[in-house]
Amino acid sequence: MIAAHSPADVRAAVLTARTRGLRVAVRATGHGTFADPSPDTLVVDTSSMRSVLVDPDRRTARVGPGATAADVVAAAAPFGLAPVTGTDGTVGLTGFTLGGGHGFLARKHGLAADNLLRADLVTADGELLTTRADRRSELFWALRGAGGNFGVATSLEIQLHPVTHVFGGVARFDRGLASHLLQRFAEYAMPDELNVSIVVERGAVAVRGVYAGGADDAWRALTPLFLEEPFEDTFRVMPYAETFTIGGTAPRHFDLLREVPVDALLDVAECADAVEVKRWGGAIARGTSPAGHRHVPFSVTVDGEQPLREQVTGGTFLNFCKDPARTHSAYTRVCLNRLLELKHAYDPENVFGVGHALVVTNAARELAA
Ligand SMILES: Cc1cc2nc3c(=O)[nH]c(=O)nc-3n(C[C@H](O)[C@H](O)[C@H](O)COP(=O)(O)OP(=O)(O)OC[C@H]3O[C@@H](n4cnc5c(N)ncnc54)[C@H](O)[C@@H]3O)c2cc1C
Repeated sequence: MIAAHSPADVRAAVLTARTRGLRVAVRATGHGTFADPSPDTLVVDTSSMRSVLVDPDRRTARVGPGATAADVVAAAAPFGLAPVTGTDGTVGLTGFTLGGGHGFLARKHGLAADNLLRADLVTADGELLTTRADRRSELFWALRGAGGNFGVATSLEIQLHPVTHVFGGVARFDRGLASHLLQRFAEYAMPDELNVSIVVERGAVAVRGVYAGGADDAWRALTPLFLEEPFEDTFRVMPYAETFTIGGTAPRHFDLLREVPVDALLDVAECADAVEVKRWGGAIARGTSPAGHRHVPFSVTVDGEQPLREQVTGGTFLNFCKDPARTHSAYTRVCLNRLLELKHAYDPENVFGVGHALVVTNAARELAA
């Protein structure tokens, strides 16, 4: 393991790894690290590169690779701005973004990957490159969803949005409403501002998430999902930073769905702590980066032993994919082919083939062919 404090340290680490014939893995927080890296892997620890620089005029932030989501939210908040972040503030903003980045603002403002404006990256040959929409655009496209497969990012520039407060929380209803509520959720054409999911828990069914707007509009948007009085309700106006307290479901299994198979979901929920159905769509569906399957409207997250086996599309989302062997299924066929071609061009020796690896052997050349 090498602790990096600057882009030059990252570059030196990659060059050292190359000299010694080692693979390179990145570790910022360790949240997404799968297993102890093998002895042929050099881990670059970026956790001390935590700088965040906000440009309030351009509504952007330059983010060091060790900065957490909470670091960026805290830096942006004084300017009335916020990034797209997920359910947990301790997650690294860089790993979150490069793996797609689904969050409470994503239906309105897109995935975090869609909000990436620039990435500085140390590539497999030890070069420090800048990638943007107008500069190495193919590599820039690939980075927005391909995780750590193309190099070590030393800095990201991301788009911020004028968000200070949202209306968020959890409302719990009688568990007997689960079937009806899932059905209503499936049929409801939610506004893009509304990003709530239905969570079937052991003793309740919950509506959980955020409306990116004011209380009056939020209540109007939530009303179709409040089938009766909740027995617990924490929905309220909250500073954006408090969205990290709303919570999520541990993705022991994660799958995408074209429809909401109510009965099958309730069966799975019988032996799970939680089964969460998310609605994607909105700005997520309009994004063009390789992250995710843009036109699949729902997902199911199971915190339990058994996954939902029928009715799933077979696709996944990189950041919620616990099984590295399923990495290819995080992309559409067209995106995967393009990613493999780029992988062959930028990392033919598969130096970064660790964890969610696009290519699992050194034979990047063969697979891309
Ligand atoms: C409690 C919890 C809640 C979560 N909630 C969400 C959520 O709401 N939405 C969502 O989309 N995801 C969510 N995730 C998943 C999370 O975004 C991914 O696991 C992400 O990869 C974590 O990044 P990290 O830097 O924290 O972890 P690390 O283990 O440090 O890094 C994970 C991977 O990110 C990549 N990476 C990190 N830094 C760099 C870099 N500088 N250059 C290149 N690649 C890099 C590498 O592939 C690395 O292996 C959650 C995870 C946890 C643990």
